[in-house]
Amino acid sequence: MSVEEAGTGLIGAIDLGGTKILSLVVDMLGEVHGVDVRPTEAHRGPNAVLRRMVDSLNAALHEAGRGPRLEAVGVAAPGPIDFEQGIVVEAPNLPGWSNVPVAELVADMMGCPTVLENDANAAAWGEFTLGAGRGSRHLVYLTVSTGIGGGLVLDGRLYRGANGGAGEIGHIPLVDDGPQCGCGARGHLEALASGTAIARRAGEVLARGGAPLLARLAAGNPPSARLVSEAAAHGDRDARAIMEEAGYHLGRGLTAVVNIFNPDHIVLGGGVMKSGDLVLRPALAEVQAYALRLQREHVRVVLAALEDRSGALGAAMLARELVTNAGQFNDET
Ligand SMILES: [Zn+2]
Repeated sequence: MSVEEAGTGLIGAIDLGGTKILSLVVDMLGEVHGVDVRPTEAHRGPNAVLRRMVDSLNAALHEAGRGPRLEAVGVAAPGPIDFEQGIVVEAPNLPGWSNVPVAELVADMMGCPTVLENDANAAAWGEFTLGAGRGSRHLVYLTVSTGIGGGLVLDGRLYRGANGGAGEIGHIPLVDDGPQCGCGARGHLEALASGTAIARRAGEVLARGGAPLLARLAAGNPPSARLVSEAAAHGDRDARAIMEEAGYHLGRGLTAVVNIFNPDHIVLGGGVMKSGDLVLRPALAEVQAYALRLQREHVRVVLAALEDRSGALGAAMLARELVTNAGQFNDET
């Protein structure tokens, strides 16, 4: 696709999260021209949140200052979605969201074609097209934050699976009778290496009088993963052990990913990865020790490059394809 073919139009993107809405207006090359961030106010329910999403995107468009016209809009939303129908099936962090036809409603309000994608898939596509995975062909994206989400780009295309559920890497089972996962099962990767898992483990260590520096930093409050990382970086051995343990489990999950998908890139994003080597080094050591040699030697494990914009930028680049009629939407017709 050349810029001339794509026109000089603008694309809108909305990343809907449980606590905040991020809207971007970008050009066909993914350059950002307008931004708006505002609280989701999820307790107000789907109709009010949809109105806020559109208001937010209009505010970003106003900032872009190039007239009111958007060529297309991409929306990234949490939870299982029906990609074909553009429906949010359910969203655990958004009360009342059950079978909400987001793509149709946003398209009506904005007056242009709209595509809806799961937020982890959108982030994978963002890193693939504009971020740390540029030049990749087979990319696995993981976001390690409150939970662990994943997205797969296989042979240059988003892989959604039989009914949109592919890429749930956070739910690889690793430990018998391990801690409870967000999904209800025990011992999944998410229950062992997410920010929630790190915070829970730190709570246990503090309860038996360990992690003295972390205890001082937490000052009686439940410790966050970020605080554990900070204490570890400043020499708290128990805090360091907690981060390394999370990294070890992450590495076991990544080993499965490397062996199954033979990716050329694994891109790691999310708040927990901001602690860098504390988690990354033990994770890579596991991959080095246990992934199959040919697959291991080919893969690059890198940190995400687009920070908290990977989902919105990915949604924008998916929406771009509505305009250019390329890639993801091409060979269905
Ligand atoms: Zn699970």
